[in-house]
Amino acid sequence: MNAGGGNGPQADWLGWREALETILSRCEPLETEDVALSGALGCAVAEDVTADVVHPPWDNSAMDGFAVHAADVSGATTEDPVVLPLSDDIPAGSFPSGPLAPGTAARVMTGAPVPAGASGVVRVEHTSEDSAGRISFFKDSDANRNIRRRGEDLDAGEIVLRAGQAVTPAAVGVLAMQGRSRVTVRRRPRVGVLSNGNELADFDEVEEVRAGHRIMNSNGHALAAQLIDAGADPVPLGIARDEAADVRRRLESADQCDAVISSAGVSVGDHDQVKAALEDLGMRRVFWRARIRPGSPLTFGLLGGKPFWGLPGNPVSAMVTFEVFLRPALRKMMGHRHPEAPRVLGKTRKAISSSADLTHFYRVRLDRVAGDLPLVELTGPQGSGILTSMSEADGLLIVPEGISEVGAGEAVEVIPLPGDWS
Ligand code: AMP
Ligand code: MG
Repeated sequence: MNAGGGNGPQADWLGWREALETILSRCEPLETEDVALSGALGCAVAEDVTADVVHPPWDNSAMDGFAVHAADVSGATTEDPVVLPLSDDIPAGSFPSGPLAPGTAARVMTGAPVPAGASGVVRVEHTSEDSAGRISFFKDSDANRNIRRRGEDLDAGEIVLRAGQAVTPAAVGVLAMQGRSRVTVRRRPRVGVLSNGNELADFDEVEEVRAGHRIMNSNGHALAAQLIDAGADPVPLGIARDEAADVRRRLESADQCDAVISSAGVSVGDHDQVKAALEDLGMRRVFWRARIRPGSPLTFGLLGGKPFWGLPGNPVSAMVTFEVFLRPALRKMMGHRHPEAPRVLGKTRKAISSSADLTHFYRVRLDRVAGDLPLVELTGPQGSGILTSMSEADGLLIVPEGISEVGAGEAVEVIPLPGDWS
């Protein structure tokens, strides 16, 4: 990447990382609550979960086959098989009648308990059974294999999940294995979503949109979807007209929310209704600009002590600032130990020139390449009003401040977006 100069934005605009750290330092984890396991997906566990169910509960077979003492089958080959009488038959769900008698074999099914004393389970493919029920062994390679030991996955007292760990589908499996129908998590934030602008319409006024007189409030819906995707509960606050009283009334109706997102109406040159309403309500502004594109007119403050984000109105800017700042902040509020997603490494397909005074988040596709890093390519024109640049994107390519050109084939970092993996 080439460094470049440029007439930088004003010194009081925060850089990307500083803006994010500033936001994170003011977002605290919410209270804990006990929820049904079926509703916990995407939350973070609030306290360490300790195993009290030992798994597996008994030494069990990893194969359908015959439990043996190793010494009894030692040296068995196809030409010179070992023949043993059957002393027990143990399907899954049954228990052995006793320890394995020396010089005998016990039939065991996968998952069934292995009789005490057995050293291994010879898979059925290495055996045959005659009409008198005697077993011929043609191989001894399983003589000390195929027994899954009691507690090898989880022993009593082991930590199953650590505080802050996400409830993933696998975590649901492990908790279910532990017999936990409920789990203690940090509760999901309720987040008010306000849209601002006289030009905006919603589905009930879609005819005006089709007639070309209004535009759809796509931000309200896209931001609500991002909130749900992040595990939060959106609370629609509707579309405020460009009047301070309407903005204020809608923000007041968010008093039960844990945070509020408002889009549009806060950029320089805007009519000041949102700012006026926020001042009336005593919002404590923490910052109002960041050295990023898209999304530099980003306001962050505390409204009634709770996080308030004034996002730009442009649909791409609103969605990108959500991914870059709000998703990590919401994850912190939910108690996740990792607020930010791990970045994906890729290689640029073509050179990309950037302006060095801002950190850019370009919308990119990640094209899979066999045996190599994915190829990173812009989704098309990157204007902040071109929402399809976002809907086509697999991720946000980060081109940090100070870089004016990324060469073709350079390794780059991408923030993954909720995915379209087809
Ligand atoms: P503003 O931040 O008010 O200057 O708006 C910037 C651009 O975003 C304008 O083209 C607006 O029409 C558009 N915009 C503002 N709010 C929304 C919204 N909720 N949904 C879709 N576009 C919007
Ligand atoms: Mg506007």
